[in-house]
Formats: sequence, structure tokens, C-alpha cells
Amino acid sequence: MSAIVEYRNLIGGELRPAASRRLLDSFNPATGQVWAKVPASDKSDVADAVAAAKRAFPAWSGLPAAVRAHYLRKAGELFANYGDELTRLEMLSIGCHALKNNTAHGLGFLFDRAAGQTLEAVTGRAVQLDPTTLGYTTREPYGVVAAIVPFNAPIAMAASKISVVIAGGNTLVLKPPEQATPGILRLAELLKDVLPPGVVNFVSGLGADVGDPLTRHPDVRRITMTGSAGTARLIQRAAADNLTSSVFELGGKSPNIVFADANLDKAAEGVTIRSIFTANAGQACVGGSRILIQRPILNEMLTRMETIAKKHKIGDPFDGATTMGPVISKVQYDKIVGYIEMGKKETKLVFGGNYGPELVPSLPGGFWVEPTLFMTEDNSLRICQEEIFGPVAAVIPFDTEEQAIAISNDSRFGLAAGVWTNDAARMHRCIRGINAGTVWINTYLHIGYELPFIGIKDSGYGYDDIMEFTREKAAVIATG
Ligand code: NAD
Repeated sequence: MSAIVEYRNLIGGELRPAASRRLLDSFNPATGQVWAKVPASDKSDVADAVAAAKRAFPAWSGLPAAVRAHYLRKAGELFANYGDELTRLEMLSIGCHALKNNTAHGLGFLFDRAAGQTLEAVTGRAVQLDPTTLGYTTREPYGVVAAIVPFNAPIAMAASKISVVIAGGNTLVLKPPEQATPGILRLAELLKDVLPPGVVNFVSGLGADVGDPLTRHPDVRRITMTGSAGTARLIQRAAADNLTSSVFELGGKSPNIVFADANLDKAAEGVTIRSIFTANAGQACVGGSRILIQRPILNEMLTRMETIAKKHKIGDPFDGATTMGPVISKVQYDKIVGYIEMGKKETKLVFGGNYGPELVPSLPGGFWVEPTLFMTEDNSLRICQEEIFGPVAAVIPFDTEEQAIAISNDSRFGLAAGVWTNDAARMHRCIRGINAGTVWINTYLHIGYELPFIGIKDSGYGYDDIMEFTREKAAVIATG
């Protein structure tokens, strides 16, 4: 077995262990084995990191936008130069085989894009209030921003947050997810040699030990968090004393609606492997975990979906034949298995429902779950209302468009929705009728970085866009 690698925090331009020297284990979800150790930091490390970010802020925010853009482009180049290594670390951390096709190499474009927006982010507007009064606005960064990252696409989420936060002139303290820290801390090592000390700081550890003190710190002026609604509520409470504002990109229970007039080949693929039986085993915020099917095509769709699901090869993320990896951890595995058993008791199992070592005998320590489909007429079941975050979905048959929209909206979440139809007017009625931040028509999980990606209800508010990380200040000048 190869040696266990130890990673460090980045604070004020220095790579450091936690002040307490304590470490957390990083597990490979395909084997269940520890392969790396990361700092188990606490509030003293957080205090140091916030202080470093605060010290770096005046110089960083004082740079001309074009100079900040230059730094961002240098940071973006790291992904091309170290893409193989970062991708491998991500695969070891989260078990997602698809990273072989969709690798860290491409993430540099997030930094390029943010570099192109540095000037716009600090540009205000002029307003002639009356003939002798000129008003104008400037846009200013917030100061120190806290970024909290989830486990399911850690390097991509970190890149998306770092790029827009620092492009706006803010400095940053980032907390990686405890289940998938190494790739982010390797990125920290690389950024250390590209950015001035203290502009980005990384503190690894548990949510309660690092995330909580970070989000309640009085010198943190804005928070960007991607994760679950439950954690967002804790953060909102922690941030209340300082009235720190937040961007929250949270979970979902997205409906994927198939009308009888749809192209069934495309729809069957769209509601299965593009949506919920994905390469990272359904651990996607936009997973279409409620599949609404119009009754005349119900049996036909179930057959097609089962055929597609059965073709999945579950196994080692590094094996080229694999199409679906493990789930991230024992904790997540137990949660998913709990929902599968609940579904079996409460409604009809259409296919799947198996889990455990016998699914991948060559890797018995991994966290394996089979694509699983339930069917129910009752959208109020917990498997239809709660985010399972695994390869588990429920089919809900419907008769009319009105019913489909009503069932879609009967949810605490509002992140995304899919609609499969060839009726052009219906497409627009569904887009208008469904309460979700994004509605995909005849496609799914197609995230366009040029478009906003904003949840509603328990799916959050705001998104990682550069304009979220500068704010307008007004000036009024009497000229008469
Ligand atoms: P999580 O909420 O458990 O954890 C997210 C992060 O918050 C982790 O870094 C965690 O350590 C930290 N955290 C935990 N407790 C904290 C506290 N008290 N204070 C501050 N930080 C704390 O989420 P997860 O399991 O890592 O990720 C899965 C969730 O993320 C799902 O709900 C998924 O839908 C959501 N997600 C949303 C998007 C989106 O763009 N909307 C994208 C990816 C994932």
C-alpha cells in the first residue's frame, strides 16, 4: 500500500499543520481505506486565517483591476498544468469515475472568465440627479469572504468560489469538505506560489470546528456556502450576530417530467444517467429524484429506464469500464440505505434496491449502492420530499399538465426541473409554472456558466457570480 500523504492548511502564504497538530483521516470511498490525512483545525486556526485575509485585503483590493486579472489568469493556468494530478486526487476523494472525462483541466476557464470581469465588478454608474447635483456609484469588495464547500464536486466548487471572490477584490478563507479535502489543499499549495500571501487561505476541519467559528467571525463580511439546507440554517444563525450576508447554493428534490408526446429515447436517457443514476452515484444537487411520467407512457418508460440502469457498471472509478462509482462515505451510504429500506416498506420497488460489498466483490470495503427506482402515487412520502443524495429516485405517474406542475411545486425545494415534451406552448407554460431556479427542456444537467444558477425556497439564494462579491456605494456631489 502506498504511503499516507499528509496535507496542510494555507494561512498567510504559509503551509501549516493545525495549531493543535491534530489530523483527520481521508477515506477512499472505493476501498473504505485511509489514504491521506488533513488538518483537524479549530477556531485558533480560523482566527489566524481571517487575520491573514484581513491583512492582505487593503493591498489586494487596491490593485488596478487589470493587475488582479493577471493574477487570476496565472491561477487559471494551474488547472492546465496540474489537471492530471488534481483529477486523480478528486477521484480518490469522491470516487467519481466521470472525472476521467470531465477533468480538473477545464476549470481554468472559471479564472479566465473572472479575470475578464474584474473591471466590470468595480465599475459603478453616473446619475444626474438634477441640473446641479451629480450622483454616482462605485462598486467595492466586501472584505474577507468565507467560502464553505460541499463534498460532491470539491475542486470545481472551490475554483468557482475562489475565482469570483478574489476577482472582485475580496480576500478569502475557504473551508474544504471534511470528506474530500486533499485535492483542495493541493490546489492551495499551487495557489501559494501564484497569489500574494493571505489573498486565499485554506483551513481544513469539521463543520462545527472550522465552519462555525469562520461564519460567526466578526471580520468575515460575506459568506458563500454550497451544501445542504440544514447546514445553511446553522450558518445563518451563526452569522446573525454580525448580520453577515450570504450566498447559499443548496440541495434539491428536482422533478423530471416526461409527457406522452416526448421523444422517449432522449427522455429515458435524460431521466436516468443524465439525471440521477449519474457517474457520482446520484450525489448531484440537481439530481432529478422525482420522475413524473404521464400515464399512457408509464410502462414503456419504466422498461426503457430499467434497461438503461442495468447497463451501468458499478465499480472502481479508475477502471475504464466503470460508469458509476461509490457513494462518498459510510455515513452517506447508511443514509441512502435507510431511505431504500423506507421506500421498500412504503411503496413499490420497480428495480434495484441492492447495496453492499456483493455489488463489487473485488472492492468489498467500498460504499456501493445500485441504481434504485420506486413508484408511488403519493408525493408526500419522505422518499419524495427529502433529498436522498444517492442513486435513488421515485416515479410519480400523472394525467394532466396541471397535475404535473402541482406535484412539481409540492416540495420545500426549488433548484431545478426537467421537462420532456415536443409541444412548444407546453414548454413555456411549464417554465412559467414550475417554481425552480432552472428549468431544462428536453435536456438535463446542462449548466451554462453564462446563465444564473439560483435556487429558490430551501434550495437557497444568490449564486457564485462576480457581481455578488462587490456592492454599490453611492456618492452625491452638489455642483451648483
Ligand atoms: P453539508 O451541508 O453537510 O456540508 C457542506 C459544508 O458545510 C461542508 O464543508 C461542511 O463541513 C460544512 N459545515 C457543516 N456544518 C457546518 C457549520 N455548523 N457551520 C459552517 N459550515 C458547516 O453538505 P454536503 O453533504 O457536503 O453536500 C451535499 C449538499 O450540498 C446537498 O444538499 C447538495 O444538494 C448540496 N449541493 C448544492 C449545490 C448547488 O449548487 N446548489 C452544489 C453541490 C452540492
